[in-house]
Amino acid sequence: MNKINNINRRKFLEIFAGCSCGLVIASCTTAPITERKQLKLLPESSLNRQAAQIYINVKNKSKLSNDKKKLNEIKEIGSNIEEAVSSYFLSVNKPDPTYNFKWEYILIDNDKIKNAWCMPGGKIAVYTGILEVTKNKHGLAAVMGHEIAHAVAKHSIERASRALILNVGTQIADIASGGKISAASRSAGVDVAGLLRTFGIDNPFGRKQETEADYLGLIFSSLAGYDIRESVKIWERMKEAHKGKEPPEWMSTHPSSSRRIESLKKWIPEIIIKYPPIKKMT
Ligand SMILES: [Zn+2]
Repeated sequence: MNKINNINRRKFLEIFAGCSCGLVIASCTTAPITERKQLKLLPESSLNRQAAQIYINVKNKSKLSNDKKKLNEIKEIGSNIEEAVSSYFLSVNKPDPTYNFKWEYILIDNDKIKNAWCMPGGKIAVYTGILEVTKNKHGLAAVMGHEIAHAVAKHSIERASRALILNVGTQIADIASGGKISAASRSAGVDVAGLLRTFGIDNPFGRKQETEADYLGLIFSSLAGYDIRESVKIWERMKEAHKGKEPPEWMSTHPSSSRRIESLKKWIPEIIIKYPPIKKMT
C-alpha cells in the first residue's frame, strides 16, 4: 500500500514539475457556461492521448454495427453538435473547449447495453441497445448532447485531478501519468469492459457533474437545432423500459430519473429561448 502511495506521489510530483507554469492558471478554471469552479491539475493533452489509445482498443475488441444508416445519423447529429458548440463559444468570445478535439463516432452492436459515452477529446460510442429508448434523432441528440457535455466540461480531468489529490485513485493516477493504459493496451487479454473500467468511463461522475452534463447537454442540442423536449420523453421511456427490473448501469450511475425529469422540465423553456439554433460558422 505504502509502495503504491509512494509511486503515485512520485508520479504526481513529476506531473507537477512537468507543467508547473500552466498549473496555477489551469487549477483555477471554471466549467463552460455554468461557471462552476473546477480543479484541474492534469494536462488535458495527456488524458486525451490515453483516451484515444483506449478508443482504438475498444474499436478492435467490440462488435461494430453494420447499420450504416444509423451510424450516419449518429455522425450527422454529432457534427451538428460539434459545430454548434464551436460556433457558440466563438459568438460569445470565449475559448472553444473543443478546439483540440478529434471527434470520432462508433456504433457498437449490443442490444443489451442501453448506453453511450464520450471520452475526453471527443471519442464517442453509442450502443445499439439505447436506440430503442432514444427512438428518433431528437432523442439521440439528447443522449449524445449529455455525453458530449461531459467531455466539453472536462469532467474526466476533474475526476482524475481529485483522485490525485486524495491519493486514492491509483488506477486513474496511473492513467494520468501514462502507466497503466500503455500496459493494458499491450496485453492482449483485456476485454472492453476492463478497458473502460480502467479509464473510469463506466464509473458514475459526481452528482454535480451529471446535473451539469444534463444542463449543458440541453443547451448544445438546442444550439444544434434539435427539439430538446424529447429529453423528458427519453427518461420516461427509460423508466418504463425498466419497470420492476434492476436498473441498468447507465441509469443507476445517473441521478434518479424522476428528479432528473423535474430538472429538465424546469430548464427546457428557458434554454429554448436563451439558446436557439445557432448559425454554422462560415
Ligand atoms: Zn452522464
